[in-house]
Amino acid sequence: MTNLIDGVSRIEIPTPFPVGSVNCYLIEGTPLTLIDTGPKTSKSLATLQKALQDKSYDFSDIEQILLTHGHIDHIGLAAQFVRARLQTHGNPTEVWIHQKDASAVVNYDRYAERYLEFYTELITSSGVPKNEFPMLPPKGLIEYFKSLVESVPTARSFNDGAVFKTGIGEVSAIWVPGHSSGSTCYVCDEKEVIFSGDFILGDISSNPSISFDRNEKIGMLTYLESLDRLSSRDNYSALPGHREPIIGIRSRIEVLRAEYDDKLRRAAQSLTRNHQTIYELSRIIYGAYDVNSLTLALAESSDLLKILESRNQARLVKQDGVVYATGL
Ligand SMILES: [Zn+2]
Repeated sequence: MTNLIDGVSRIEIPTPFPVGSVNCYLIEGTPLTLIDTGPKTSKSLATLQKALQDKSYDFSDIEQILLTHGHIDHIGLAAQFVRARLQTHGNPTEVWIHQKDASAVVNYDRYAERYLEFYTELITSSGVPKNEFPMLPPKGLIEYFKSLVESVPTARSFNDGAVFKTGIGEVSAIWVPGHSSGSTCYVCDEKEVIFSGDFILGDISSNPSISFDRNEKIGMLTYLESLDRLSSRDNYSALPGHREPIIGIRSRIEVLRAEYDDKLRRAAQSLTRNHQTIYELSRIIYGAYDVNSLTLALAESSDLLKILESRNQARLVKQDGVVYATGL
């Protein structure tokens, strides 16, 4: 556990995913608050328990959990707190999430089924050759995901601009869709700090294209628009969902924008007059990525091509369920 600012500590929780550990933040004072929880694995549970014990707390002491978004590695353990507090104090921990991601917490199994549809469609429409198929079949993958989350039927949802009391002052919820539909940054103006979840990360992409519930809008464009929502606070620091704190987010946002411009350029350059599948183009844009990055590379490539199509730089046609792209 690392002390970051007075009253805020970071707890690094292991995850079974390539991203490595996830950051949860304990905000001391009243109400005792946790930002995100880690996935439901015995290793994560033990790490979280030990970190709280070191501060002389146990699970039942946490009064409020603010979730940055509805992904496994951030929500999986929330139910444990609710149960512990209900048993000890007779009232459950309050668990909060933006309404667009609420279904992930309230009923994760249903949410996972929707992810399965997105995932299957992505693999199929991208023309992935059989010998490159992911090791876990989609059904197996979803069952595995489900095992890492316990739903919280009593979770409560909020809209953009909701304000929460914490031990370091009020934090306001800024809705920043892109990484997921309900991604939220919790902003503490008093401390000039942003709990940014996976919306802004220090040295890795936020993967906005993987958000599957976006109603026809291109995930990457939604994400870039959301970056504008923090422009009035771009001198603030961010405490992200993975890796190290970001001191002053302005330069990070500039780098992120430049990275997307660069990816778009590479995507445009990879197009020819011949039909190419999204899979084939992803191999040109992202090179020799491994199987763990397949979904990500396909989802991003798909978004890049849709953006180029909207700018009249690409033509996309679907034949027998597979999308083919050509340059114009
Ligand atoms: Zn995430």
